[in-house]
Amino acid sequence: MTQITCPDCENTISANSDHCPHCDFPIREYLATTSASRPNPKSGIRLPNPPQHVIIQGLLIALTVLTVFIASMLYIAHRHKQRAPAKVPPTTPVEQPATDSGPS
Ligand SMILES: [Zn+2]
Repeated sequence: MTQITCPDCENTISANSDHCPHCDFPIREYLATTSASRPNPKSGIRLPNPPQHVIIQGLLIALTVLTVFIASMLYIAHRHKQRAPAKVPPTTPVEQPATDSGPS
């Protein structure tokens, strides 16, 4: 019979039991959700998914990159807006003068 460590109360229990006899932790359900179908009796059950702080760290990095990207895009857009009027004025249509002053 395989002995495993209960992830909740850390008591050594049978892997074949549905619930932990000490804390009533749903062992069978837990083993079904984890990738380790055959638990290692030496180290007990280990969660295969990464620790939460790693996920939060990744989210923070993604958020920082996104913020820098948006900021740079806004900066570029702002610079384009500032530069645009300098190029536009020459195309302003000059209204035809009332008095005819021909080239002479
Ligand atoms: Zn337990």
